Amino acid sequence: MKVVLLRFGELFLKGGNRKIFENCLISNIKNKLNGLNFKFNVTHGRYIVSEFDDEIEILSRLKTVFGLSSLSLAEEVVADVKSISDYISSIKIGDKKFKVDVKRADKTFPISSMEFAKDLGGLVLRNNENAKVDLYNPEIEINVDIRFNNKAYIYHETVQCLGGLPFGSSGKALLLLSGGIDSPVAGFMMAKRGLAIEGLHFHSYPYTSLQAKEKVLSLAKQLSNYTGEMRLHIISFTKVQEEIHKRCAPEFMITIMRRIMMRVAERICEKYNLGAIITGESLGQVASQTMQSLTVTNSVLKEKVVFRPCIGMDKEEIVKISKSIDCFETSILPYEDCCTVFLPKNPVIKPTISRAEREEGFLDIDNLVELALSSEELVVIK
Ligand code: ATP
Ligand code: MG
Repeated sequence: MKVVLLRFGELFLKGGNRKIFENCLISNIKNKLNGLNFKFNVTHGRYIVSEFDDEIEILSRLKTVFGLSSLSLAEEVVADVKSISDYISSIKIGDKKFKVDVKRADKTFPISSMEFAKDLGGLVLRNNENAKVDLYNPEIEINVDIRFNNKAYIYHETVQCLGGLPFGSSGKALLLLSGGIDSPVAGFMMAKRGLAIEGLHFHSYPYTSLQAKEKVLSLAKQLSNYTGEMRLHIISFTKVQEEIHKRCAPEFMITIMRRIMMRVAERICEKYNLGAIITGESLGQVASQTMQSLTVTNSVLKEKVVFRPCIGMDKEEIVKISKSIDCFETSILPYEDCCTVFLPKNPVIKPTISRAEREEGFLDIDNLVELALSSEELVVIK
């Protein structure tokens, strides 16, 4: 019978919390496979998925589960010499260099690992006359894993998975999701560290188009392949931007805008009980992401921590991740983001908190934050 063996790595480091992490991982795996035929078993620290009919779909979904380090498609046979030998005899490997590796978790198995590996190697050679044994540089490594449950698992490929921590095991945070390249990557990276995620998007309709909003919805949809269902809070920033544009020094447009975004984000966190804010900022990428700008933006927050997983990454590194999670093609669609509306020619690169506060003196900040919050629209992405 064909099965998938699942392995997890970092989970083991979590000591007392291990059970919680494991339960979270198991329920994430089951949710991910929802709608497909399958059976899930835990035996002696191994997760095994079996009785599935859509192998390709099962494998591709499992590869998106955070917390799994690798998986192998394996043949499950009864753990006796004859059953294992019969299966090994049926393997066709052409003229490849190979090695057989036997592991016995169950030491009551009657033959030693080394001896059995040699015998099985002989069987492979008998049926593949051009194949060669190569213990040091094999093209195919045939693994025979003899377990306690009177089952043996035979496989020759180990596929790397995403690693990380089970989704949701670190709590829940708010991702500031624009239509760009960086913020979906930031969301993916923090989800990988176990954070469940809700999204917050600001639009400036009619300055930004409905297509720009659609684009963000499709990015959220793409992210939901990793996060499961995702709630997206959509907020109108039009009035806020008009007011800043009308009353503040143009070079402070973006600084003030970002400070108001953060205030709104913190309020959304409070309202929905979210523990942190996530952004796609990367040091020095644009004027609003210098050390000074980030300081001035950050300083409006009362208590929430901001996670900026892209902060130390080059654009190419971010693009590489964006492509690997299939967001890139959507992210580069040429629709305006609200950050590009009323964009000043020379945004300030080294703002100070006191100057930003002075500019904000021309605005009714509390009122603008309330106004933005009152426009909230909630979309659930599945
Ligand atoms: P991105 O590629 O993620 O759009 P960026 O390089 O364009 O980032 P900025 O536009 O300065 O940089 O935005 C920095 C961060 O602020 C974004 O990564 C995102 O987290 C947040 N952000 C920007 N615009 C919006 C928006 N319209 N709605 C929600 N968050 C936003
Ligand atoms: Mg942007």
